[in-house]
Amino acid sequence: MFNKTMQHLGEERSVIRELFEYGNARKKIVGEDNVFDFSIGNPSVPAPDFVQDEIKRLIDTVPPEKLHGYTSAAGDPEVRKAVSDYIETKFGIPMSANLIYMTCGAAASLAIAVTALSEEGDEFVTIAPFFPEYRIYVESAGAKLVVAPSLKDFHLDLDALGRAIGKRTKAVILNSPNNPTGAVISAEELMALSSLLEKKSAEKGEPIFLLADEPYRELTYGAEVPYPMRYYHDTILCYSFSKSLSLAGERIGYVAVSPFACRKDALFSAVCGAGRRLGFVCAPALFQRVCAASLGQSTDVGEYRKNRDLLYGALTEMGYECVPPEGAFYLFVKALEPDAVAFSERAKKYELLLVPSDSFGVGGYVRISYCVSRTTIERSLPSFEKLMKDYRPRSF
Ligand code: PLP
Repeated sequence: MFNKTMQHLGEERSVIRELFEYGNARKKIVGEDNVFDFSIGNPSVPAPDFVQDEIKRLIDTVPPEKLHGYTSAAGDPEVRKAVSDYIETKFGIPMSANLIYMTCGAAASLAIAVTALSEEGDEFVTIAPFFPEYRIYVESAGAKLVVAPSLKDFHLDLDALGRAIGKRTKAVILNSPNNPTGAVISAEELMALSSLLEKKSAEKGEPIFLLADEPYRELTYGAEVPYPMRYYHDTILCYSFSKSLSLAGERIGYVAVSPFACRKDALFSAVCGAGRRLGFVCAPALFQRVCAASLGQSTDVGEYRKNRDLLYGALTEMGYECVPPEGAFYLFVKALEPDAVAFSERAKKYELLLVPSDSFGVGGYVRISYCVSRTTIERSLPSFEKLMKDYRPRSF
C-alpha cells in the first residue's frame, strides 16, 4: 500500500531524537533545570544581531511579492553570485555563480550531492565516527555506504581509507570540523587524502569525488579549516548556515561544485536534477537573501569555547577520557563501560542525557553536545561526578 522502507525510516526514531523527547518528558516531572540535556546539536548562541537586523531591513524595504516569491530552482541569481564572489575572495578559488545551488541546509545539500553522483553499484566511503544520516542519503540513492575507521585521535587513517576505497567508490564523504568528535582535518591531511584519491581515481579510470560536509566550518577554537577545493579538484562542498549563523530552523545552505571538477557543468546539471527529483528547489527565499548579506560572519564562537573549556576541563579532571575538540560543539567521551547504550542508560539516573556512539558507527563512547547554556553545564557537573563514582567508587 505504501513504501515499507519509508515507513520504517519514519517509525525508527533516531537515538538523538529519542533522548531529546525523553528529556522533555522528564523536565515536566523533575523540573526544567534538573535535566541536563546534551542530546541535540541545536545552537544555543542566538543568531547574531546583524542577522536579525537584515531580516527586518529586508521586510521593510523589499516588496513582499518579491521577497517571498519563488526564486530560480538553483536560487536567486544575486545570492548565487554573492556566494560565488565570497568563495573566490576568501579562498582564492575562481568560482562561478553557475556552480552554486542554494539548498535547505547541509542535509539537503548532502542528499542532493549523493543523488547527483550515484549510479548502479556505487559505493560512498565515509569515516567513523560519522553523522548517522549519511547512511540514509546514500542508501536512498541506491548506493552502499562503506565505513573506514579513523585514528585514535579521530584524524584520518589513510591506510584504512586506502583499503576502503575501490573500483566501485564514487565519493568519499568527509566532515570537518567533525560531528561527533570535534576533530578538524589539517592541510597536511587533506593533501595526503588528495594524493590517495588521485591515485585511486587513476586506478579506477574516472574521478572519485570528495564530498566535503561543512556545517561547522566557522566553529573552531584556533584550528585552521583548509578549503577542500584548494587541495582536490573533484570536490563538491555541502555548506549550511544552520550552525555558523544559528539558523538551524530556517533550513538554508548551498552546494558548491568545484570549478576544477571534471565535466563541472554536466556535474552541476546533475546537482540541479537531483534537487528537482528530491523536491529541493528554490531554497527559502528570505533566508537566501539574509545569508547572502551575512557571508563570512558567524555567531559568537567564544561562547562555545567557554562551554568547551569548562566541560572538557571538569570532565577530564574527574577522570573521563576525551580528545580535546578542535571545532564544532561536541565532546566525544569514552563511556565508563564497553556498552555505550548501557552507559547512556545509567547516566539517565543522574538526569544526564548523553548520546551513545553506536549510531555514529563506533561503540564505547557518548556524544555530549555542549551547545547549551553555561548554567546547564555548571549544574550538571555534580551529576557527572556521581556517575563516575557509580562506576569507580574506590577512586573517591
Ligand atoms: N552534517 C553534519 C555533520 C551535521 O552535524 C548536521 C546537523 O547537525 C548536518 C549535516 C545537517 O545540517 P543542516 O541543519 O544544515 O541540515
